[in-house]
Amino acid sequence: MKLKILFNSEGLNEDFSIGWGISVLIGQHILFDTGENGDYLFNNFKKFNITLSDLEAIVISHDHWDHTGGLWKILQERKGIKVYACPQFSPNFKEKVKNAGGKLIELDSFYGIEENIFITGEIPGTYNGSYMPEQALVIKSEKGITIITGCAHPGIVKILKKVWEKFPEEKFYLVFGGFHLAGKDKRETEIIVNSFKEMNIEKVGPTHCTGKEQEALFAKAYKDNYISIKVGQTIEI
Ligand SMILES: [Zn+2]
Ligand SMILES: [Zn+2]
Repeated sequence: MKLKILFNSEGLNEDFSIGWGISVLIGQHILFDTGENGDYLFNNFKKFNITLSDLEAIVISHDHWDHTGGLWKILQERKGIKVYACPQFSPNFKEKVKNAGGKLIELDSFYGIEENIFITGEIPGTYNGSYMPEQALVIKSEKGITIITGCAHPGIVKILKKVWEKFPEEKFYLVFGGFHLAGKDKRETEIIVNSFKEMNIEKVGPTHCTGKEQEALFAKAYKDNYISIKVGQTIEI
């Protein structure tokens, strides 16, 4: 299974558009989040030779502009595509998806969108004091379990524990995406890094809203098993 990094704030080279947010293609047909902007995302589709008609579903981690920004341009060209959301995303977002022709699917519990590809369903979280539900994407492959997060507003460890409960016997291979740890001090971050180690998570790729100092603490602990996530990369799992 191949994962292509379609959007993030750093690229492998200058051909790729970069900006705030994240977007990852799973195989050829499932998109996780859409970054801040449709034009940027479409440029990266082109650079990766991705055919829009191959897309079958879009999973939106949470209702923040830097994760939904590219969705609207995709919906213009792919009416009827499935958009996996959480029930408590804003009514505004849900209306907009329906009006743009997306097939909105709202799930509050763990769900297999196809064989070996799952979404966690709505996990309660907060952002700036307001309720901010979020879901993560989970893939089971030969190497083990891979988890991709948007911003991890519910807390990265809480998300991991939810997945762990579903797959207690599986090896956890890779966790990457936004961990939202900016503002956490060294000690707090090290506790989180230790939780990753206790769960035997083999590789990590903290990026997006994780925070540079916090990323550095993961890099220190994970050494060669730390992945610096850049637009243009293909990750084999
Ligand atoms: Zn974000
Ligand atoms: Zn966010």
